[in-house]
Amino acid sequence: LLRLSSALALVTGAGSGIGRAVSVRLAREGATVAACDLDGAAAHETVRLLGGPVIEAQAPRGNHAAFQADVSETTAARRLLEQVQACFSRPPSVVVSCAGITRDEFLLHMSEDNWDKVIAVNLKGIFLVTQAAAQALVSSGCHGSIINISSINGKVGNMGQTNYASSKAGVIGLTQSAARELGRHRIRCNSVLPGFIATPMTEKMPQKVKEKVTGLIPMGHFGDPEDVADVVAFLASEDSGYITGASVEVTGMRPAW
Ligand code: NAD
Repeated sequence: LLRLSSALALVTGAGSGIGRAVSVRLAREGATVAACDLDGAAAHETVRLLGGPVIEAQAPRGNHAAFQADVSETTAARRLLEQVQACFSRPPSVVVSCAGITRDEFLLHMSEDNWDKVIAVNLKGIFLVTQAAAQALVSSGCHGSIINISSINGKVGNMGQTNYASSKAGVIGLTQSAARELGRHRIRCNSVLPGFIATPMTEKMPQKVKEKVTGLIPMGHFGDPEDVADVVAFLASEDSGYITGASVEVTGMRPAW
């Protein structure tokens, strides 16, 4: 049974890691995917992986499509929603914000630039995409499911990540508040809190740190991007029809430090 056969899913950060796995999973469930990334070529590659015709952002025909956008730029984020709507003649009914970055630095040395950049992409980017998507859904009277990728570090913090953990905690509050405001429009909003997932983002961790972290995870290994994608597919589908404002941990159980 294809759970998302009538869905149009916008995925940001779709060119890598979790966003790519989410795109593949949602397409397998029958969704048409609008794959967006800062790296347009990477978004295109994701669409190629989905099979079916690759169409350019503004050609209103065919199947999945790739879009290039920097979600932290106000005009770009708004234009993205307009382009997706123009391309498919409807707003996306599923919106998954996976775009995210790290700029790790200990608090005592954290530069203002590293603080601002991470907040701009991870928190303001999600605000901009969530707002534009909700506006498009409400004005066309459509229902929807908005899924924002936070992090377990938004709940428990992490060394060297005052900027990242703050942005991810912000995503939880933003998503819960949006869920309260949008419930009456039948737009559900949930956040997903991955633990350590094997993607290009965590690849750059020093081997020693990876080993230490692995030893603390009760499940004994990093998660795969597909582990997160499975949960996103559930939250996107009507199988989670009465779940909104939730923050779902996908961590193999968070480490007890
Ligand atoms: P990744 O680096 O593999 O992928 C992130 C993607 O986002 C990249 O393709 C990048 O080009 C894109 N991106 C970055 N800035 C962007 C912008 N301004 N506009 C549009 N796209 C942009 O990382 P990942 O591990 O797949 O992470 C995906 C999400 O999951 C992030 O929000 C991350 O914080 C979160 N997360 C990851 C982990 C983990 O362990 N990997 C854990 C918890 C949360």
